[in-house]
Amino acid sequence: MTRSGALFNFTETSDACIKCGKCIPVCTIHNVNADEVTSPRGFIDLLGAYQRGDLELDRNAKAIFESCFLCTNCVDACPKALPTDMIIEQVRADIADKYGIAWFKRAFFYLLRHRMTMDMLFKLGYVFQTCGFKIKAEINSMQPRFSLPLIKKDRLLPSMGKTSFLNAHPENIPNGGQRRVAIFIGCLANYNYTEIGKGLLEILEALKIDAFIPKKQLCCGAPAYFTGDFATVDHNAKKNIVYFESFIDEVEAIIIPEATCSAMIKVDYEHFFHDQPEWLARAQKLKGKIFMATEWLEQKTQLKALLASKGRSDLSVTYHDPCHARKMQGVYKEPRALVGQNYTITEMSDSNACCGFGGVTMQTENFHFAQAAGRPKAAMIAQSGARVVTAECSACRMQINNALNEANVDVVFKNPIELIAQALRGNSR
Ligand code: SF4
Ligand code: SF4
Repeated sequence: MTRSGALFNFTETSDACIKCGKCIPVCTIHNVNADEVTSPRGFIDLLGAYQRGDLELDRNAKAIFESCFLCTNCVDACPKALPTDMIIEQVRADIADKYGIAWFKRAFFYLLRHRMTMDMLFKLGYVFQTCGFKIKAEINSMQPRFSLPLIKKDRLLPSMGKTSFLNAHPENIPNGGQRRVAIFIGCLANYNYTEIGKGLLEILEALKIDAFIPKKQLCCGAPAYFTGDFATVDHNAKKNIVYFESFIDEVEAIIIPEATCSAMIKVDYEHFFHDQPEWLARAQKLKGKIFMATEWLEQKTQLKALLASKGRSDLSVTYHDPCHARKMQGVYKEPRALVGQNYTITEMSDSNACCGFGGVTMQTENFHFAQAAGRPKAAMIAQSGARVVTAECSACRMQINNALNEANVDVVFKNPIELIAQALRGNSR
């Protein structure tokens, strides 16, 4: 597939940068690799030079552009809101065109396009471990400079449920109500953290809202988007849009207990289809019904009041703001408002700091950067004194669990949906 044309002109973005440096102190990669070329201002400068033909997209430039975490901290801090993250997403497609995509990432993205194959591998216990992360064992044996903490301790890998969420429940779950919502579950919650979906079903049952679990949903495409595999994004996004359209008028919303999937469908589909007008219009039409799960539950239901009628726990909880929730979708009050009904929230010093997950390339070839970015997050979680850290994002969960484990911090990670379901069961202690 020929990839989409550029959404942003690199030279125009570079010319618009006033070099004020306000983005630099907040930049996740610059904080762990203090070099001008690995800063938002540096990336923008280099991309301008690349578009003017003054910079070759050689392996050094490739490594530089693959070091960005796409955390969007810089966009928030920039007085001109320059879209550094998005122009880096664009250049990664050029990198993929020029250098191809590593075989293990291609295998992983193939699975993201083929749910049935993914299901079969899942039954054998290979999903994500083989294709996304355990593969690092092989990379490490070939290139000893890469570290491999994810496979050293079982706790660091998402535990594999026996049946995926999508295969464990019927498509329609009537709860005797007048309202109906669809659930988009996301790959990690479907295969690995299945308690999230189970908890969401319990919450909808308590609220008497019918649940619809669309069985043909595909991966949102975010892992491929951040890696420059635009063919996979194009495939999955179009399949999902066509499928969502087939039931969208029969549900109030599509709720998603995962920040990255929600941001991808609600925000990034629109960016991706900017030069495909028909698909852009279809993505835009759907976005009004896409919500993060806590966002919809807090804004559109009586869940808060229901939780208030339940007992309080003495468990202290600290909330990490996923970049794709707070910065991309403005969702940060809602999970706190719900969780705060039954648990004491103890804020960490910088809940908005990126955890350092960064995507598939960051978690494999650039894992040393992910580790470095995870250390301060683990330290602030420990300093909060909370016994549980929560965030509505399973990518953050993998990264934070690993960082906590490396720092020997004994704090448990739960999705807010799991904590809320636990409170409704009356065992929030
Ligand atoms: S997206 Fe994050 S890591 Fe990338 S340049 Fe911006 S602040 Fe730095
Ligand atoms: S904050 Fe914006 S304008 Fe200032 S140096 Fe960074 S990218 Fe350029």
